[in-house]
Amino acid sequence: MENSLSITVDVEDWYHIPSVSGSTFSVYKDVDDFFENWTERYDYLSEPTKRVLDLFDEYNIKATFFVVADVVDNYPGLVESIAERGHEIACHGLHHACKIDPKTKEPLMSVEEFEKNTLEAKRILEKASGQEVIGYRAPNALIGGWMLDSLEKLGFKYDSSVCVNSIYNKTDSTLEGVSTYPYHSESGSLNTGPKRNIVEHPWAYYDVAGFKVPTSGGPMLRFLGAHMMLKGLKQSLKRGNTVFYFHPIDISYEKFPQIGKGRPMYWAIKGNVVENRIKYIMKKLKNVTFDCLNENYS
Ligand SMILES: [Zn+2]
Repeated sequence: MENSLSITVDVEDWYHIPSVSGSTFSVYKDVDDFFENWTERYDYLSEPTKRVLDLFDEYNIKATFFVVADVVDNYPGLVESIAERGHEIACHGLHHACKIDPKTKEPLMSVEEFEKNTLEAKRILEKASGQEVIGYRAPNALIGGWMLDSLEKLGFKYDSSVCVNSIYNKTDSTLEGVSTYPYHSESGSLNTGPKRNIVEHPWAYYDVAGFKVPTSGGPMLRFLGAHMMLKGLKQSLKRGNTVFYFHPIDISYEKFPQIGKGRPMYWAIKGNVVENRIKYIMKKLKNVTFDCLNENYS
């Protein structure tokens, strides 16, 4: 197959998820509030991240790591070690706060605040990695079209947050005409539009008689299993370049602290099962070209 699959990894820990911090329904207002109050061990991220790096070496894959910028301070050397192994470092927000309300899709912060925080995150990640950071992924994939206008202004060349499917839409747009390959969006929206200086790289889905099943990774690796994911990835690759993602904490062997109401039930499936599913997918796709997303812009 000629088209390329970008494997992407969202580098965040268990307390970055919205039931624990950074959302309107979280236990802690934000990550600062979490660290002010949490007295026990917090790092469940370093160990599975090291295993992800070994896995990529084994399969000869270079990937794009979307990193929450506060990871740089709280996990000394971790982001540096990802960059040293030849992977791309991209931005997953300053503290993983939701930028739009999951229900109303209304902004949860001003444009000025978003731009200030995102620029700070970009600089922190560039300093740690020694790379120019040109890619962004919205925390929890909650993205508004206005955010792309800001990202373009801040010098980002691409975003990868959009997942078209028939189950949910986490954006503020209808996504009409959007598929699984890169596109330009209208200003202020995520619907398709004329050429501009920022590109959206949407995620893979599996179209079964018009019903679009999200097969881009993450929680769906637990719900659907590897076989369905693989079908969706292969089908998406026929359409064009596409994106797969997971989190290091998805393959954690440990149980996370049990705090946070409405904690997603998918954590009940063990990390070693998910790890085996990822290995299976990579093995089956061994003839596919794996690109870092920034290779499209070099
Ligand atoms: Zn995330």
